[in-house]
Amino acid sequence: MLVMLVLGVLSDREALFLLFGVLGYLGWHLFNLVRLLRWFQGGKRFHPPEVNGVWEEVFYNIYRLQQRNRLRRRRIVRMLNRFQEATAVMPDATAVLSIQGEIEWWNNAAGELFGLRAPLDRGRRIVNLVRHPVFTEFFATGDYTVTVQFPSPVNEQVMLAVRVVPYGKDHLLLVGRDITPIYRLEQIRRDFIANVSHELRTPLTVIGGFLETMSEDEDERTHHWGRSLHLMRQQTSRMQHLVEDLLLLSRLEMERGLHPRDVVVVSGVLAGIREEAVALSGERRHAIHLDADPRVRLQGNSEELRSAFSNLVFNAVQYTPAGGDIYIRWYADISGAHLEVSDTGVGIAAEHIPRLTERFYRVDAARSRESGGTGLGLAIVKHALNRHDAQLSIESELGKGSTFACHFPPHLMVRIT
Ligand code: ADP
Repeated sequence: MLVMLVLGVLSDREALFLLFGVLGYLGWHLFNLVRLLRWFQGGKRFHPPEVNGVWEEVFYNIYRLQQRNRLRRRRIVRMLNRFQEATAVMPDATAVLSIQGEIEWWNNAAGELFGLRAPLDRGRRIVNLVRHPVFTEFFATGDYTVTVQFPSPVNEQVMLAVRVVPYGKDHLLLVGRDITPIYRLEQIRRDFIANVSHELRTPLTVIGGFLETMSEDEDERTHHWGRSLHLMRQQTSRMQHLVEDLLLLSRLEMERGLHPRDVVVVSGVLAGIREEAVALSGERRHAIHLDADPRVRLQGNSEELRSAFSNLVFNAVQYTPAGGDIYIRWYADISGAHLEVSDTGVGIAAEHIPRLTERFYRVDAARSRESGGTGLGLAIVKHALNRHDAQLSIESELGKGSTFACHFPPHLMVRIT
């Protein structure tokens, strides 16, 4: 440009030479811009063309940036490959789903356990391939806090435990595990308890029957055995209760799904339980108060609900000193329907509360046995409530009393207006 200006001054045509100069300069920029564009479009030609001036700087900086990105991309791809290799050989079945349930990726174990075939099943909805009702219902409700168990669609003998974990903005991770050995052991345990209880039932009924007949006989021999007969009858009746509770518990555990689902008039059931509780209280004359909203009803199994509620009310009677108060309340609010059984009894120390629903867990075993308890009552309550999607909550203060509450979800509630 300076050369053009000097030439212009020398030839007295500054403007013309300046114009040529500017045009030349612009042309050079345009030429380099086109080269830059070509270089970008060239794609695979990594090295920038030979340039000089300010364009050298521009080409060089872009080139460096490209190199850095290329390195970073290569590192990410390598990491991704390594991650995919690791997940592919993981023994747990893993699949990546879109939020609508379309399968995007899966590992070898998922292919084997869920029967997914590549590339045929890519993009298909998981519920169209895994069609077990337990899974389809679980996927439809979208409550991914729980783990579901069902047999593998490929092999009925293989039991799967499946979880779904939402991640990112719109993806789901499906994780499945083969739990066949644990499931079999559980089944053996359940069958064993059910069979033993069943086998004990008949001999106990026979012994109980004979003992009753003998105690009704008024002859001298039975009179002599009076106290022993009484004790034998008491113990037989305890064992009969135990067997009945064990059978009920295994039935609750074994039956899948809730059958039948009636609309249960809970206030009526509670009125009956109250009558029985008054009889159980007898001489101890507890004041048993019932406040139940007859308009609030529940979809469920009336026998299972009766067992659960009566266990709570009878416990309140057993563990409350004579003359104490027991309150039974049945009501609904926006979170669902609730049954509360409060007593002014012995109460339970905080450390025992989390374990009360375990089978045979008793705070005071001698006292429980003395009052005819089997130690299975609250385990029955928990199972019956589980089958109704309900929760048990326990609050208690030693020496003051306890409140046992059952919380039923709104979808099981039927409100009569
Ligand atoms: P049990 O047949 O021994 O009553 P449960 O499973 O019904 O068995 O109850 C477990 C234990 O919880 C009882 O042994 C008792 O110690 C305690 N418990 C249950 N209900 C009450 C209550 N209302 N007040 C105090 N303790 C209770």
